[in-house]
This record gives sequence, structure tokens and C-alpha cells, in this order.
Amino acid sequence: MPELPEVEAARRGIAEQLTGRAVTGLELYRPRLVQAAPGLSLDLLPGRRLLEVGRQGKYLWLVFEPLAAVVHLKLTGQLVARGDAIPGFAAGHPVPPYDAPLPHKSTALRLDFEPDIQLYLTDVRHFARVWLLPADDLMRYVEQLILGPDLLSPDFTFEAFRQRLERRRSGRLKPTLLDQSVVAGIGNIYADESLWQARLHPEQVVGTLSENDLVRLYEGIKETMRLAVPMGGARILHGKAVPPVGEFPFVHGREGQPCPRCGTTIVKLQVNGRGTYLCPRCQPAPVSWPRGTVATGRLAARE
Ligand SMILES: [Zn+2]
Repeated sequence: MPELPEVEAARRGIAEQLTGRAVTGLELYRPRLVQAAPGLSLDLLPGRRLLEVGRQGKYLWLVFEPLAAVVHLKLTGQLVARGDAIPGFAAGHPVPPYDAPLPHKSTALRLDFEPDIQLYLTDVRHFARVWLLPADDLMRYVEQLILGPDLLSPDFTFEAFRQRLERRRSGRLKPTLLDQSVVAGIGNIYADESLWQARLHPEQVVGTLSENDLVRLYEGIKETMRLAVPMGGARILHGKAVPPVGEFPFVHGREGQPCPRCGTTIVKLQVNGRGTYLCPRCQPAPVSWPRGTVATGRLAARE
């Protein structure tokens, strides 16, 4: 679940409230959380100051010279910081509730910062990971993740987006948007929202998009981020959108509710095994196929 807006909320919280502070202690509740380069361990952190926090797509990193920690929250990771000296923040998956007593039975790590501040990483499904590596290797490590441009970075231009999609002409739209090497940061929720904004069907083949479609898709992604990032992410609990109809998110988690644009009932279908929400009127099923291919039922099934 945590996608770019949720991870960005964590990055901002850490940048504003923890940067410059020294680590004073820690407790690792779930050793499998951490994968460390040879010679490194979390025990090297106490006494080190947090110098910098960065993010690309859904990857977050914290730099404590001479080591860096790369964090991926995967499906259900959550970061919560508490302490009298800071306002505190919570970001990521909404379960357990952000105000639950911590540590929770699913808490994997607690990092203590001066003065008496705790940062908790909690993950009910235990897929989240922290990689420890020498700070000098950080950028090389991030490069080998082969991530596309981050949606909030100046590198995410229309031209860069078009070129990335050009290499994926035979792919269907939603799986292509979920591919982090195309663009970094979109997951299931914001793919649905971006496609609804752009009035495009998630199963349309990339190569069939017109120039106008591409512009709408690019703008739809930007608009979705513009709405989601200041909120720290869409409010979705147990698969259902929490805000009233007409508020963000507009389609994801809203099966059976009216489309805020045209009133048609929003439907849920499976695309590559992912629950996908759309308005069947605003986002009609694709009728055209890539130039140079034969539009047969067999091709459709294989795509
Ligand atoms: Zn509609």
C-alpha cells in the first residue's frame, strides 16, 4: 500500500523533525527486517547523527555517516515518530491506527533519537525491509534499483514520460504504470486515480494512446500527486475509501458508489490480479489495438 505520497509524508516528517539529531539507542524486535552489508549492523548507529533523508519512488533512505539505511515499507509498513520535543508524525499503512500504543506486536524496529524521541517501524505483514550499507555506496545502490523518474522530481517531464512509455508499447496501461522502472512511486491506488483523471481504461494497450491521451495521463498523474501528497496519502481503510463521495480518492475503494464526474456506478475488476476501480462511462473499454498487430481474441487474452 504505501506509495509515493505515504513515503513522501515519512520523508518530510523525518527531514523536519529528526534530521541533525543523534541516535541514542534502538531495539530490533524482528531481526529479519534488516539486511546488512558485511561488517555493518544497527549497533553502529548509537552516537551517530542523522545527516540526510532522501527518497526515490517508494524507497526511502537515511544517511548516518558512515552508513546509510535504505527503507522499503512494502505492503503494510508504517513509520511513527513520537516525543515531547517534536510534533511527531505518522505515515504509511493505516493499520495499526496511528495513535495505537507502541511498540505494537507488529513493531519491527524502534530507533531512539535525542532527546527522548522514538521512531517506530511497524508492519503487520512483515514484508518491509531495511538495507544497511556504507554511505559511500548509497547512490550506486539506488542506481541499481533501476527506478524511473520520481513523480515529484523535475526529471518527471512529459517528454521523459512519453519516452518511457514508448519502450512499453505492447503493455497494458495499469501494469505499465505500476512498473517502477517506467515511473517511480505509483502503486495500486494512484494508478486507478490517475487513469480516472485521464479517462483511460486500465487495460488499454500503451501503443494505442494518442498524443492527447498521453497528455491527459501525464496531467492525471500530476493532479493525483497534487491531491495525495499534502494529505500524506488517500484515506483508505480495509480496502474502502473513507472520505465522502466526491472527495479524494475519487474511484479507488468506491465500488458501487457514483462517479463524481458523471454519476455512473463505479465498478471493480481485476487487472493482472490487482483489484482495480474505474468508471465504465468515463473510462470505456479499449476498442483499438496497436498499429501493426492483429486484434484477435487470442492476442487480447495474452496481452
Ligand atoms: Zn464517470
